[in-house]
Amino acid sequence: MAAGIKAYLPRLAVILAIAAFPLIPGVPEFWVTLGGYIGLSSLVAVGLVLLTGVGGMTSFGQAAFVGFGAYTTAVLTTKFGFSPWATLPFALLSTGLMALLIGVVTAKLSGHYLPLGTIAWGISFFYLFGNIEALGRYDGISGLPPFSIAGHALIDARVIFYPIWIAVLIAVVLSENLLDSRMGRALRALRGGSIAAESFGVDTARAKLAVFVYAALLAGVSGWLYAHVQRSVSPSPFGIGPGIEYLLMAVLGGSGYVVGGVLGAGIVTVLKDQLQNILPKLIGTGGNFESIVFGILMVATLQLAREGLWPFILRLLPKTADKIIDAAAVPLEHRTPPERGQPLLVVDRARKTFGGLVAVNDVSFTINGGEIVGVIGPNGAGKSTLFNLLTGVLEASAGEIRYRGERLDGLPARGIAQRGIARTFQHVKLVASMTVLENVAIGAHLRTRPGVIASMLRLDRREEARMIAEAARQLQRVGLGEHMHKPAGSLALGQQRIAEIARALCLDPALLLLDEPAAGLRFAEKQQLADLLSRLRAEGMTILLVEHDMDFVMRLTDHIVVLVFGTKIAEGTPDAIATNPQVLEAYLGGVE
Ligand code: ADP
Ligand code: MG
Repeated sequence: MAAGIKAYLPRLAVILAIAAFPLIPGVPEFWVTLGGYIGLSSLVAVGLVLLTGVGGMTSFGQAAFVGFGAYTTAVLTTKFGFSPWATLPFALLSTGLMALLIGVVTAKLSGHYLPLGTIAWGISFFYLFGNIEALGRYDGISGLPPFSIAGHALIDARVIFYPIWIAVLIAVVLSENLLDSRMGRALRALRGGSIAAESFGVDTARAKLAVFVYAALLAGVSGWLYAHVQRSVSPSPFGIGPGIEYLLMAVLGGSGYVVGGVLGAGIVTVLKDQLQNILPKLIGTGGNFESIVFGILMVATLQLAREGLWPFILRLLPKTADKIIDAAAVPLEHRTPPERGQPLLVVDRARKTFGGLVAVNDVSFTINGGEIVGVIGPNGAGKSTLFNLLTGVLEASAGEIRYRGERLDGLPARGIAQRGIARTFQHVKLVASMTVLENVAIGAHLRTRPGVIASMLRLDRREEARMIAEAARQLQRVGLGEHMHKPAGSLALGQQRIAEIARALCLDPALLLLDEPAAGLRFAEKQQLADLLSRLRAEGMTILLVEHDMDFVMRLTDHIVVLVFGTKIAEGTPDAIATNPQVLEAYLGGVE
């Protein structure tokens, strides 16, 4: 507990320092004004940290959303006589709707198409704002009323500073709450690729859209405040140039860290002001030379400090407290386990072709409850392809896959997870920067409900405690209890594979699918893995093991299916397979 409080002391100190800044005698008004602008930019940058740094969606167009907030309040206050405070819901609504609309189209773009998309609408809205008569074209709208409290106008920079920074504080707290929650982990899991997240029931498209809208809303609030600080709006602060500056703030500060957004906003805003003073004197002529410095800064950050500057500061701060595990949390509900010895999964003439290549050739077999079934075969035999058919990553070209009497083929990965089938990955897909515990908790995503808003407002704590307790329990179960608070990336490969099994167990699966769990493990690690799987079977778990390592499978399984060039050539008990001449010939090339 003491560690918990200690971790908050530096934050409290920073908050007090910011609050005291305008009151310090002798601080020039100009610096206080600049401080206000840092706050306004921080709001946008914090949104970008979540969108770009956490969600992996790079947006150059964020300034457009600032524009929506600003223009909405400008129109409502100057043309319809609204008071500035009263327009906040409308500013949020217009920005949110716009973000939803744009997000539905752009958030699903992948790779470089997404940033290109954001550049496209970033530019379009600049021209849109500049060409609408009612918005005053490129001159914009002026004569906006200031914020006022009880008849006192908040015009003084030393006063307006406070509402701005209160908004920043709220944004930081909401954003950090979100990251430390079920939905936040789902978002952070996007870094491990959407296949992994989807396999545990995360609706990645929806998670992306949610963070897209949230980031836009923060930008909208910034625009709403800006309009009444500046008392006028025009298109230029909402174009693509400022959009790039916001992105620089998020990247420079620390693209995965909420507070990094504030740091980046501070550095870029102060730097821009200083450069605008110094550079023209150095160069001897006016111009936007700071853009060149910013460009260099962006490239240097991406080259030298991918994670931005915040991690360097983080190292100097007291370590944040480990996540608290509440042993008294009500355990999550369990699904009814499958009956031992009864067919659980029936693969019926499953087929997958890639063009002319038949990767899985009408393969049939059955997995009964409580068994460990192995699928073996040399490289290229179609094991992974078969595995992908079972997990919904690929769609079968023909055949049926039935699970507890229901067709599985055609279901997306998420639907398969919902039915109680959990998997691990041949190439480990954990989020290296998240703790082992947090990674494993993603496995329980489908077993609780809290959404984005509940998480931000901390209404999710009871459910959160249940998820975390479950994750801790599964880590104890697989023997990784002592490593749960370490970053997943710091574990050895063997331990990471075991952590993936813990994550899968967190889903409360009826069937566990493992893709080459022994690949790349040392002998002792294989031994531990085999012990773990035997133990799970003894506890009633049903397991399908796709594996290259023949010895490993022989020792462990009840039933083996042998694939060669996509075709099942043999099936039976390990003893029968070990002596099957066809298997020895085909699989071992007759060497033994
Ligand atoms: P295994 O996991 O047993 O080593 P795979 O299932 O990965 O085998 O591959 C089976 C065959 O299908 C191989 O010949 C491989 O080249 C081919 N294959 C796998 N995935 C694809 C794909 N996405 N597109 C085309 N061919 C593929
Ligand atoms: Mg494979």
